[in-house]
Amino acid sequence: MKIITIPVLSDNYAYLVIDEATNEAGVVDPSEAGPVADAVKREGVNFTTIINTHHHWDHVGGNKELVQEYPDLRVYGHKRDETRTPCISHMVDEGDTVSIGNLEGRFLFIPCHTSGHVAVHFAAEKVAFTGDTLFVAGCGRLFEGTAADMHNNMLKLSALPEDTRIYPGHEYTIKNLEFALTLEPNNAAVQAKLSWAQETRAKNQPTIPSTVAEEKTINPFIRVDSQELRATIKKQFPSLRLDDVTVLERTRYLKDNF
Ligand code: ZN
Ligand code: FE
Repeated sequence: MKIITIPVLSDNYAYLVIDEATNEAGVVDPSEAGPVADAVKREGVNFTTIINTHHHWDHVGGNKELVQEYPDLRVYGHKRDETRTPCISHMVDEGDTVSIGNLEGRFLFIPCHTSGHVAVHFAAEKVAFTGDTLFVAGCGRLFEGTAADMHNNMLKLSALPEDTRIYPGHEYTIKNLEFALTLEPNNAAVQAKLSWAQETRAKNQPTIPSTVAEEKTINPFIRVDSQELRATIKKQFPSLRLDDVTVLERTRYLKDNF
Protein backbone atom coordinates (compact mmCIF):
# COMPACT_ATOMS: atom_id res chain seq x y z
CA MET A 1 0.00 0.00 0.00
CA LYS A 2 1.23 3.42 -0.95
CA ILE A 3 -0.52 6.41 0.62
CA ILE A 4 -0.25 9.84 -1.01
CA THR A 5 -1.29 12.61 1.36
CA ILE A 6 -3.06 15.38 -0.55
CA PRO A 7 -3.50 18.68 1.31
CA VAL A 8 -6.85 20.20 0.29
CA LEU A 9 -8.83 23.33 1.24
CA SER A 10 -7.25 25.08 4.23
CA ASP A 11 -6.50 22.19 6.57
CA ASN A 12 -8.12 19.00 5.17
CA TYR A 13 -6.32 15.91 3.97
CA ALA A 14 -7.47 13.61 1.19
CA TYR A 15 -5.55 10.36 0.85
CA LEU A 16 -4.81 8.51 -2.37
CA VAL A 17 -4.50 4.82 -1.48
CA ILE A 18 -2.63 2.80 -4.08
CA ASP A 19 -2.36 -0.98 -4.32
CA GLU A 20 1.07 -1.22 -5.89
CA ALA A 21 0.53 -4.86 -6.97
CA THR A 22 -2.41 -4.02 -9.29
CA ASN A 23 -1.90 -0.24 -9.75
CA GLU A 24 -5.50 0.29 -8.58
CA ALA A 25 -6.22 3.33 -6.40
CA GLY A 26 -8.94 4.86 -4.26
CA VAL A 27 -9.25 8.17 -2.49
CA VAL A 28 -10.45 8.86 1.04
CA ASP A 29 -12.43 12.10 1.50
CA PRO A 30 -11.88 14.07 -1.72
CA SER A 31 -12.73 17.56 -0.45
CA GLU A 32 -12.04 18.98 -3.89
CA ALA A 33 -11.55 17.26 -7.23
CA GLY A 34 -8.59 19.13 -8.75
CA PRO A 35 -5.74 18.11 -6.44
CA VAL A 36 -7.04 14.50 -6.33
CA ALA A 37 -7.26 14.22 -10.14
CA ASP A 38 -3.74 15.71 -10.37
CA ALA A 39 -2.38 13.07 -7.98
CA VAL A 40 -4.17 10.29 -9.89
CA LYS A 41 -2.56 11.46 -13.16
CA ARG A 42 0.86 12.01 -11.61
CA GLU A 43 0.85 8.49 -10.14
CA GLY A 44 -0.58 6.96 -13.34
CA VAL A 45 -2.99 4.73 -11.39
CA ASN A 46 -6.28 3.06 -12.26
CA PHE A 47 -8.62 5.18 -10.11
CA THR A 48 -11.69 3.12 -9.12
CA THR A 49 -12.91 4.12 -5.67
CA ILE A 50 -14.01 7.00 -3.45
CA ILE A 51 -14.43 6.39 0.28
CA ASN A 52 -16.27 9.09 2.25
CA THR A 53 -15.90 8.98 6.03
CA HIS A 54 -18.91 11.29 6.38
CA HIS A 55 -21.12 13.60 4.36
CA HIS A 56 -19.70 17.03 5.32
CA TRP A 57 -18.86 19.17 2.30
CA ASP A 58 -15.17 19.35 3.18
CA HIS A 59 -15.02 15.53 2.79
CA VAL A 60 -17.30 14.93 -0.23
CA GLY A 61 -16.86 18.22 -2.13
CA GLY A 62 -14.95 16.58 -4.99
CA ASN A 63 -17.26 13.58 -5.51
CA LYS A 64 -19.39 14.99 -8.30
CA GLU A 65 -16.58 16.35 -10.44
CA LEU A 66 -14.50 13.20 -9.99
CA VAL A 67 -17.43 10.97 -10.99
CA GLN A 68 -17.96 13.16 -14.07
CA GLU A 69 -14.31 12.68 -15.02
CA TYR A 70 -14.17 8.98 -13.99
CA PRO A 71 -17.74 7.63 -14.55
CA ASP A 72 -16.93 4.10 -13.31
CA LEU A 73 -15.93 5.25 -9.81
CA ARG A 74 -17.49 3.37 -6.91
CA VAL A 75 -18.49 5.77 -4.14
CA TYR A 76 -18.68 4.35 -0.60
CA GLY A 77 -20.39 5.94 2.36
CA HIS A 78 -22.58 4.93 5.30
CA LYS A 79 -26.13 3.92 4.40
CA ARG A 80 -27.55 6.67 6.63
CA ASP A 81 -25.96 9.17 4.26
CA GLU A 82 -27.73 7.88 1.16
CA THR A 83 -29.32 11.28 0.57
CA ARG A 84 -26.48 13.49 1.79
CA THR A 85 -23.40 12.01 0.09
CA PRO A 86 -23.26 13.09 -3.57
CA CYS A 87 -23.00 10.21 -6.11
CA ILE A 88 -22.96 7.49 -3.41
CA SER A 89 -23.19 4.06 -5.10
CA HIS A 90 -22.13 1.66 -2.30
CA MET A 91 -23.91 2.06 1.02
CA VAL A 92 -22.09 0.39 3.87
CA ASP A 93 -22.44 -0.37 7.56
CA GLU A 94 -20.29 -1.82 10.34
CA GLY A 95 -18.19 -4.73 9.08
CA ASP A 96 -18.73 -4.17 5.36
CA THR A 97 -15.62 -4.17 3.21
CA VAL A 98 -14.12 -2.25 0.32
CA SER A 99 -11.45 -3.54 -2.07
CA ILE A 100 -8.81 -1.46 -3.78
CA GLY A 101 -6.98 -4.02 -5.90
CA ASN A 102 -5.76 -6.59 -3.41
CA LEU A 103 -6.16 -4.25 -0.44
CA GLU A 104 -9.16 -4.87 1.76
CA GLY A 105 -10.60 -2.23 4.07
CA ARG A 106 -13.26 -2.89 6.67
CA PHE A 107 -15.71 -0.21 7.78
CA LEU A 108 -16.12 0.71 11.43
CA PHE A 109 -19.37 2.52 12.17
CA ILE A 110 -18.52 5.37 14.54
CA PRO A 111 -21.49 7.76 14.65
CA CYS A 112 -21.35 11.02 16.64
CA HIS A 113 -19.57 13.79 14.69
CA THR A 114 -22.29 12.84 12.19
CA SER A 115 -24.85 10.05 12.44
CA GLY A 116 -23.33 8.30 9.40
CA HIS A 117 -19.64 8.57 10.21
CA VAL A 118 -17.37 5.63 9.39
CA ALA A 119 -13.67 4.84 9.63
CA VAL A 120 -12.02 2.37 7.28
CA HIS A 121 -9.43 -0.05 8.61
CA PHE A 122 -6.93 -1.88 6.43
CA ALA A 123 -5.90 -4.56 8.91
CA ALA A 124 -3.15 -6.23 6.88
CA GLU A 125 -1.44 -2.88 6.26
CA LYS A 126 -2.19 -1.61 9.79
CA VAL A 127 -3.77 1.62 8.58
CA ALA A 128 -6.99 3.37 9.63
CA PHE A 129 -8.59 6.44 8.07
CA THR A 130 -10.57 8.10 10.83
CA GLY A 131 -12.12 11.20 9.21
CA ASP A 132 -13.38 13.77 11.72
CA THR A 133 -13.76 11.30 14.60
CA LEU A 134 -10.16 10.71 15.71
CA PHE A 135 -7.58 13.43 15.02
CA VAL A 136 -3.98 13.45 16.17
CA ALA A 137 -4.46 14.31 19.87
CA GLY A 138 -8.11 15.21 19.38
CA CYS A 139 -11.62 14.25 18.31
CA GLY A 140 -14.32 15.81 16.15
CA ARG A 141 -17.22 17.89 17.42
CA LEU A 142 -20.29 16.05 18.67
CA PHE A 143 -22.70 17.38 16.02
CA GLU A 144 -25.07 14.40 15.75
CA GLY A 145 -24.33 12.28 18.79
CA THR A 146 -23.61 12.29 22.49
CA ALA A 147 -20.48 12.18 24.63
CA ALA A 148 -21.29 8.53 25.30
CA ASP A 149 -21.26 7.86 21.54
CA MET A 150 -17.89 9.56 21.15
CA HIS A 151 -16.52 7.67 24.15
CA ASN A 152 -17.57 4.41 22.46
CA ASN A 153 -15.83 5.54 19.28
CA MET A 154 -12.62 6.29 21.19
CA LEU A 155 -12.77 2.84 22.81
CA LYS A 156 -13.37 1.19 19.46
CA LEU A 157 -10.54 2.96 17.65
CA SER A 158 -8.06 2.67 20.50
CA ALA A 159 -8.76 -1.09 20.57
CA LEU A 160 -7.18 -1.45 17.11
CA PRO A 161 -3.65 -2.92 17.21
CA GLU A 162 -1.21 -0.49 18.83
CA ASP A 163 0.92 -0.10 15.70
CA THR A 164 -2.06 0.88 13.51
CA ARG A 165 -1.27 4.14 11.74
CA ILE A 166 -3.98 6.80 12.09
CA TYR A 167 -4.80 9.06 9.12
CA PRO A 168 -7.33 11.74 10.13
CA GLY A 169 -9.31 14.24 8.06
CA HIS A 170 -7.65 17.46 9.24
CA GLU A 171 -4.34 19.01 10.25
CA TYR A 172 -5.32 20.11 13.77
CA THR A 173 -2.35 18.64 15.62
CA ILE A 174 -0.71 21.75 17.10
CA LYS A 175 -3.96 23.26 18.37
CA ASN A 176 -5.03 19.89 19.78
CA LEU A 177 -1.74 19.42 21.64
CA GLU A 178 -1.81 22.99 22.99
CA PHE A 179 -5.25 22.20 24.37
CA ALA A 180 -4.13 18.80 25.72
CA LEU A 181 -1.37 20.56 27.65
CA THR A 182 -3.90 22.76 29.45
CA LEU A 183 -5.43 19.56 30.85
CA GLU A 184 -2.21 17.59 31.44
CA PRO A 185 0.62 20.14 31.76
CA ASN A 186 3.01 17.44 33.01
CA ASN A 187 2.37 14.95 30.20
CA ALA A 188 5.85 14.52 28.68
CA ALA A 189 4.49 12.73 25.59
CA VAL A 190 2.26 15.71 24.81
CA GLN A 191 5.13 18.16 25.35
CA ALA A 192 7.45 16.19 23.05
CA LYS A 193 4.81 15.72 20.36
CA LEU A 194 4.00 19.45 20.41
CA SER A 195 7.67 20.43 19.86
CA TRP A 196 7.90 17.90 17.04
CA ALA A 197 4.61 19.12 15.49
CA GLN A 198 5.77 22.76 15.61
CA GLU A 199 9.03 21.87 13.83
CA THR A 200 7.16 19.73 11.30
CA ARG A 201 4.58 22.40 10.48
CA ALA A 202 7.33 25.07 10.24
CA LYS A 203 8.67 22.96 7.36
CA ASN A 204 5.11 22.83 5.99
CA GLN A 205 4.97 19.05 6.36
CA PRO A 206 1.93 17.08 7.57
CA THR A 207 1.96 15.77 11.15
CA ILE A 208 0.21 12.56 10.15
CA PRO A 209 0.04 9.67 10.64
CA SER A 210 0.15 8.97 14.35
CA THR A 211 -0.39 5.51 15.81
CA VAL A 212 -2.91 4.00 18.20
CA ALA A 213 -0.14 3.56 20.80
CA GLU A 214 0.78 7.23 20.50
CA GLU A 215 -2.84 8.42 20.74
CA LYS A 216 -3.16 6.57 24.01
CA THR A 217 -0.36 8.74 25.42
CA ILE A 218 -1.36 12.15 23.96
CA ASN A 219 -5.09 12.22 23.19
CA PRO A 220 -7.23 13.69 26.02
CA PHE A 221 -10.40 12.18 24.54
CA ILE A 222 -8.89 8.71 24.92
CA ARG A 223 -7.13 9.55 28.21
CA VAL A 224 -10.37 10.16 30.15
CA ASP A 225 -9.03 8.08 33.06
CA SER A 226 -5.83 10.14 33.44
CA GLN A 227 -5.45 11.34 37.03
CA GLU A 228 -4.01 14.70 36.01
CA LEU A 229 -6.69 15.31 33.39
CA ARG A 230 -9.43 14.42 35.86
CA ALA A 231 -7.94 16.72 38.49
CA THR A 232 -7.96 19.62 36.01
CA ILE A 233 -11.60 18.96 35.10
CA LYS A 234 -12.55 18.60 38.77
CA LYS A 235 -10.96 21.95 39.58
CA GLN A 236 -13.08 23.68 36.93
CA PHE A 237 -16.31 21.78 37.66
CA PRO A 238 -16.07 20.95 41.39
CA SER A 239 -19.64 19.71 41.80
CA LEU A 240 -19.43 17.23 38.92
CA ARG A 241 -19.40 13.49 39.53
CA LEU A 242 -16.71 12.25 37.18
CA ASP A 243 -17.06 9.14 35.07
CA ASP A 244 -15.41 8.50 31.70
CA VAL A 245 -18.30 9.90 29.65
CA THR A 246 -18.64 13.04 31.81
CA VAL A 247 -14.90 13.66 31.55
CA LEU A 248 -15.07 13.35 27.76
CA GLU A 249 -18.11 15.64 27.65
CA ARG A 250 -16.41 18.35 29.75
CA THR A 251 -13.17 17.95 27.78
CA ARG A 252 -15.06 18.47 24.53
CA TYR A 253 -16.86 21.48 26.08
CA LEU A 254 -13.54 23.05 27.07
CA LYS A 255 -12.07 22.34 23.63
CA ASP A 256 -15.08 23.97 21.93
CA ASN A 257 -14.25 27.12 23.89
CA PHE A 258 -10.43 26.90 23.61
ZN1 ZN B 1 -16.87 16.86 9.40
FE1 FE C 1 -13.96 18.00 8.26
